[in-house]
Amino acid sequence: MGLGVEWAVQWLTLSARLMSEHREELIALDRAIGDSDHGENMDRGFQAVMEKLAQTPPETPGAALKLAAMALMSKVGGAAGPLYGTAYLRAATALGESADVDAAALAGALTAARDGIVARGKAELGDKTMVDAWSPAVEAADEVLVAGGDAVAVLAAAAEAAEVGAVTTDPLVARKGRASYLGERSAGHRDPGAASSALLLRAAATAAGFPEGAAE
Ligand code: ADP
Ligand code: MG
Repeated sequence: MGLGVEWAVQWLTLSARLMSEHREELIALDRAIGDSDHGENMDRGFQAVMEKLAQTPPETPGAALKLAAMALMSKVGGAAGPLYGTAYLRAATALGESADVDAAALAGALTAARDGIVARGKAELGDKTMVDAWSPAVEAADEVLVAGGDAVAVLAAAAEAAEVGAVTTDPLVARKGRASYLGERSAGHRDPGAASSALLLRAAATAAGFPEGAAE
């Protein structure tokens, strides 16, 4: 048994809750190396996702992620809006119309999301962006898949790796996005997009039944 549309809706619902709860923290991170709007952008974007979910309840996980992609693309703005929009859209396309997402489909969707972010933003690992959370997450998901793990284990591993990946951005000098304007002065601060990505992947694992906080 894989994960169904209830999981996807719960993922988005928990994401909205986490973006609201961590709004000030993401604003503070973006204040240090950006323009202070990341927390506000993400909170607004996921509020819009919740409104759309209430208006048009999706029937498949892919439809839920497509709906989220559209809302994020139109409401988040900044650099993160198009990047997350692309990520969720690519993940939705990877899932297709299936009602049930197994470990392999999930790992494939995470890879598609990461590849979408890279295609859109052209950032490489170590550039101090959200890619530094997504790439280790994809690698960890693939490892668990190969080892025979189920969908929940894939998500738990991805969430854990994304959190570690976000922390690894602390000492890095930004080479992409607004933070790169600061050059060396961007070192010593966590990348806000990597931090929000880790929260979103944690929400995915929690929605699948992985105990909250267990991935920390
Ligand atoms: P803006 O920088 O336009 O204010 P946000 O504050 O919403 O947009 O988002 C900033 C985040 O976007 C960064 O912390 C980083 O993770 C991500 N980001 C910016 N540019 C890129 C890029 N080229 N590739 C991947 N991620 C990027
Ligand atoms: Mg910003």
